[in-house]
Formats: sequence, structure tokens, C-alpha cells
Amino acid sequence: MSVPAEPLRLLGVRKTFGDLVALDDISFEVGRGSTTVLLGPSGSGKSTLLRCINLLEKPDAGQIDLGDGPIDVGGKLSGRTVRTIRSRSTMVFQQFNLFPHLTALGNVVLAPIESRGLPRPAAEERGRELLEKVGLGDKTDAYPDRLSGGQQQRVAIARALAMDPDFLLFDEPTSALDPELAAEVVAVLADLAAENRTLVVVTHSLAFARRVADRVVFLEDGRILQDGTPEEFFGSEDARLRRFRDVIGS
Ligand code: ADP
Ligand code: MG
Repeated sequence: MSVPAEPLRLLGVRKTFGDLVALDDISFEVGRGSTTVLLGPSGSGKSTLLRCINLLEKPDAGQIDLGDGPIDVGGKLSGRTVRTIRSRSTMVFQQFNLFPHLTALGNVVLAPIESRGLPRPAAEERGRELLEKVGLGDKTDAYPDRLSGGQQQRVAIARALAMDPDFLLFDEPTSALDPELAAEVVAVLADLAAENRTLVVVTHSLAFARRVADRVVFLEDGRILQDGTPEEFFGSEDARLRRFRDVIGS
């Protein structure tokens, strides 16, 4: 089997909620091993776009290509297609959504055991490695209510990694955190980016975009206003981008 050049391509993705056009003809590619940062004002469609990529929302029209050829996601989708598309990525949310009745390790091993059928000892060995990797090797047996927000989010990242996704989707992963705790999470994201994992990150942090992004995609009103390098984004004289940069600050 040949290795697909790009893990993700979107073509003409459209999503409406009643009369509201949340995404209007969105096309872009995410390069293997790259970090794409999605920026844009509140309500511009960033979350909807991430949710459409793994079909938490069903697009009205468009195609998604995960390297095996374009799939028309506007048409009727079989359960199998949905599962295939979902299995390629995992999403990390602003609210970490850990199971409160499971330990950190329990959260990380749940999906590999339940939906991949991995034997518990193997899942736990890998789970411990992943918690170690996100700096929580000493917290494997802690319950979420004993962890800080930053630690909970790092458990959520380890949990996402446990599914061995082709790419990871992050929706404002640091927005619920104090700056200090956000910094721990950003450090983990920067590590993942440095390992050449494929990441798509919605954030309001221009510092993160400047430091970690290979690509910046700027959305407004459900459309891509700019898609380019961080240098292009930060150097752009476009009035709308300048205003956004000034309002958001660093
Ligand atoms: P962002 O993440 O950039 O803030 P969203 O993708 O959440 O933006 O929202 C884009 C637009 O779609 C907004 O106008 C929002 O109100 C609308 N929207 C999002 N989800 C729904 C929904 N489930 N039902 C109706 N409108 C929605
Ligand atoms: Mg959002």
C-alpha cells in the first residue's frame, strides 16, 4: 500500500445551520507532519470546520480525502464510512471531557480496549508511556478531580494519542486554562509538532501560531480569508488581518 502524500484534503466543504452559512466552500490541505493553526474571530466557523473533518457535524456538501481518494461527505454516508473517517483523527476539546470515575490511566486505555480490542496489559503499558510523555508519569492513578486543568488536558492529549490517529484536531485546547497551565499544554503541543505529528489546532494564541505553526489558515464568516505561512499571516498588510492581530494581541 502506498503512503498517502497528505493525510487530509478538504474540497468545497459547506455547512449550514438553517439560514446561517457556517462554512462556505472550504478547501485546504494539511501536509503530513505539519501543524496547521486555524485562526479567526468568534463565530467564524473554526469549531464547525474541525467537527466536519471528523463528521461530528455532517457537511451539506463537499469532499474529504484522507489519502484514499475523495469521499463525498455531502451525500448519504454509511456507518462504515463514518467510522473510517472518524478513526483517522482524534479531537481534543477545550473542556477536557475526562471520565470522572476513571483514573488518568483508565481514561487513556478505555478507547483502545473498548473500541480497538487491545488487551488491557498492552493498553496499560502504552498508556503509561503516553502519560510519561505528557509529563504525567507520576499521576497514572489519579482521578481527574485531583488534577489541575492543565494536567487534565494533558491526560486528554495522551488519550487522543492512544488511538494512534493519523492526525490530531485541537479545539482551543488552552482556552479554559490559566496562562501558567496553558503553557504546560502548549509545551506538549510543541513537542508533538516537533515529532512531526500532523496537527490542526484552533487557538486564539498568536504566540502559538508564531512559534509552532507551519501553516496559518484564517477564517472569517465561514470562508478562508488567508491560507499561508506564519510569516505571510504576520506580515500581511490586509486590513482585516491587521485588525485581528491588533485586537487579539500576542
Ligand atoms: P467558532 O468556533 O469560530 O467560534 P463556530 O464554528 O462555533 O465558530 O460557529 C460558526 C457559526 O455557526 C456561528 O454563527 C455559530 O453560532 C453557528 N453554529 C455553530 N454550531 C451551531 C449549531 N449546532 N446550530 C446552529 N448554529 C450553530
Ligand atoms: Mg469554536
